[in-house]
Amino acid sequence: MQVLLSREELSEGVDRLAALVQNDRGTQSLVLVGVLTGSIMLVADLLRRLNGSIEVGMVSASSYRGVETTPGELDLHLDLLPDVSQKHVLLVDDIFDTGRTMAALVEAIYSRGAASVKSLVLLRKKSRVEVVMNPDYVGFDIPNVFVVGYGLDHNGAWRNLPQICLIDSPANF
Ligand code: 5GP
Ligand code: MG
Repeated sequence: MQVLLSREELSEGVDRLAALVQNDRGTQSLVLVGVLTGSIMLVADLLRRLNGSIEVGMVSASSYRGVETTPGELDLHLDLLPDVSQKHVLLVDDIFDTGRTMAALVEAIYSRGAASVKSLVLLRKKSRVEVVMNPDYVGFDIPNVFVVGYGLDHNGAWRNLPQICLIDSPANF
């Protein structure tokens, strides 16, 4: 597997993201909401870099993709979302691909009464974006390749890799 982003690059990227969030929020309390399962490493690394009062919640979203990467129906699970009414939410996901997942989650969290919802992703595949929204914070723009590691999986495996790696032909793994 080819390394696309090394541990050091990832660490610098998360430093940069955390500094931007910290600068924008000042002393504001935050509910950090991670999207399972791909965001777990990013959530943990971000939390270590943020000060002040932070609550943590998780949500999940599965998209039913047909052949290859055609996006299908989105299934959102918000049962583990804490009370967000009148609160400021930072929604955190591993990757912004078509953007459908983040767009749907931002709307769902607003509909639970959040005062504000900002979105943060580690990676974005710019050429694939299909929605109008843009994440507020993006760690790295990457080409349209399939990546694993640092939380991201292929068929449930490889989330444990400390770097972001590239799978040329996912069918062979
Ligand atoms: P979107 O709704 O933005 O199209 O899809 C985002 C979700 O698709 C991500 O949360 C992630 O679960 C999955 N995804 C998109 N691209 C990749 C990729 O290159 N590798 C992995 N492991 N998952 C991806
Ligand atoms: Mg995901």
